[in-house]
Amino acid sequence: MRYSKLFGKTIKKIPKDEVSKNAQLLTKAGFIRKEIAGVYNYLPLGIRVLNKIAEIVREEMNAIGGQELLLSSLQNKESWEKTGRWKSFDALFKLTSILDSQYPLGPTHEEVIVPIAKQFISSYKDLPISVYQIQTKFRDEKRAKSGILRGREFLMKDLYSFHRDEKDFESFYEKAKSAYKKVFARVGLEAIETQAGGGAFSKFSHEYQVIAEAGEDEIIYCPGGDFSANVAISPVKEGKQCDLGHGSLKRAKAIEVGNIFPLKTRFSDAFGLTYKNKEGKDVPVVMGCYGIGINRVMGAIVEVHYDDKGIVWPSSVAPCNVHLIHLEGVANATFEVYKKLQKAGVEVLYDDRENVSAGEKFADVDLIGIPIRLVVSQKTLRQGSGQAGDKIEWKNRKDSKTELLNLDQVIKRLA
Ligand code: ATP
Ligand code: MG
Repeated sequence: MRYSKLFGKTIKKIPKDEVSKNAQLLTKAGFIRKEIAGVYNYLPLGIRVLNKIAEIVREEMNAIGGQELLLSSLQNKESWEKTGRWKSFDALFKLTSILDSQYPLGPTHEEVIVPIAKQFISSYKDLPISVYQIQTKFRDEKRAKSGILRGREFLMKDLYSFHRDEKDFESFYEKAKSAYKKVFARVGLEAIETQAGGGAFSKFSHEYQVIAEAGEDEIIYCPGGDFSANVAISPVKEGKQCDLGHGSLKRAKAIEVGNIFPLKTRFSDAFGLTYKNKEGKDVPVVMGCYGIGINRVMGAIVEVHYDDKGIVWPSSVAPCNVHLIHLEGVANATFEVYKKLQKAGVEVLYDDRENVSAGEKFADVDLIGIPIRLVVSQKTLRQGSGQAGDKIEWKNRKDSKTELLNLDQVIKRLA
């Protein structure tokens, strides 16, 4: 990618109407643009991050046997009446068409997936099975001041699992937990598995909470990692000693980046989703659902990985592997480096602008937050034999140390 041609550039001023850190930084750095409150457009840099997060989620869902599909956003009102949620789901967008029909605009997909599952699940042999999608959800959220953490339109990975009984559900639930831990570790988030309320459906559920001031939730947790509960359900108080001797429990604001939820037979019952067991008896299917907010994960990453200069992306989700810049007089040599890096499979954002000061380019590198900065200058070239790209300055976004490497060394290190 050449910065001069990039759709979406850095800006100097923080937009006045953005109060959240994630939206301020992502807007300044050219990743997103606000459409209306709670609705954001993703520019080329932004979609690259979203896609990387989505791909990590996809790999881990595939690894536990999830099958990817894509369900509709415009949904069937009758199905929502069947479950009672046409009236009770408070953030439901209800569209009225020009023909006066009404449609729910999907905030979640139990009402869509269960009627389909009914067509394919009839015997115990069809179970267990799980499906997921990464798809746009719509919710008429009352509070939409947290940037991309809480959208009225947002991407969610939602997985639905179907089981013969509670026991089988529970074993899958544990698999989902370990998949979630892998996802959050891979995207660079420390997400604490937290006990949460089960809502109307069951006694418990689990949330994955990232400690951050911007969080809308609060958790009580053990710094040793063996206990965490959402304060909304927990009678446990801050300061109480951890049972395993890890010191006193702490209370902190946190961002819910994902959750896993037993649905029992709540939706199976509503739609009559049953299977024939080995004895030929009809039994309701036991379900679970498992969500991860893709944009919210991106926002949470920004909320915990930034400094006074800008974003500091973990390499797994950064829009590019390296940010290449040239100082005066070495544009041609740097273009050669750019082409060779690309050939080696490296994702490069190349700041090819002429007549822009080194200081300005460095500031943009820090704001955009790509993990590695590569600089080609007359000075670096002189350190080598003088050939194109012979020596390049390498610097990690996270620290101030610079090193001189040749192109082969750069490519090797990136591999
Ligand atoms: P919250 O309590 O934050 O509203 P929720 O309990 O409504 O979340 P779910 O309906 O279970 O969340 O959705 C699954 C995941 O989708 C959440 O864990 C979160 O990561 C994400 N999510 C939920 N609502 C939003 C939203 N408005 N914008 C962005 N992501 C969201
Ligand atoms: Mg909600």
